[in-house]
Amino acid sequence: MKVRVVGCGCLNANCCIVETPRDKTIVIDPGAPEILDSLDRADLILLTHAHLDHVLGVNAVAGRFGCPVLVSSKEDMEACLEDFNGYADQSMIDEFRAIRITGFFNDGDEIEGLKVISTPGHTIGSSCFLGEGQIFTGDTIFAHGYGRLDFKTSSASDMLNSLRKLRNLPKGTIIYPGHDGQARIEDVFYF
Ligand SMILES: [Zn+2]
Repeated sequence: MKVRVVGCGCLNANCCIVETPRDKTIVIDPGAPEILDSLDRADLILLTHAHLDHVLGVNAVAGRFGCPVLVSSKEDMEACLEDFNGYADQSMIDEFRAIRITGFFNDGDEIEGLKVISTPGHTIGSSCFLGEGQIFTGDTIFAHGYGRLDFKTSSASDMLNSLRKLRNLPKGTIIYPGHDGQARIEDVFYF
């Protein structure tokens, strides 16, 4: 799968634009409306989790291309919004509340060649999407560590279990995280 990474939104989250062998364009975590400048089409929006900085472009992309918007059935949207209390201004809150989720996925689902791996910890609905030799990890793991655990539905013990799932991925698997640059799985789990 061909991947383009575009940083956007209030915290420069990575939006991953994935072109599948079946000629579908999947947009993972559209963090702001300006992501439209980088898109000719979108067939599906997938969310690694529902924090504001990963989702505020959902309406713009879904509105332009009429594509479905999927998030984990476990995600707690309201808690994700509360996580940004004091940071989000009213327009961001209004935009978030207007997001229309059209469907849900669960651990183990296959979606357009991507396998859902449920990885709670950062938020209860955090999920990774595994392709062939690549994985999109949102805020679960980064090139240099794992995501914050101080949010409303965060759980350190869940995160530990999630990290155990990910560390067994084949060497060479490229991690596309929700912020900053890429890494290989063995560079993150080197211990
Ligand atoms: Zn997050």
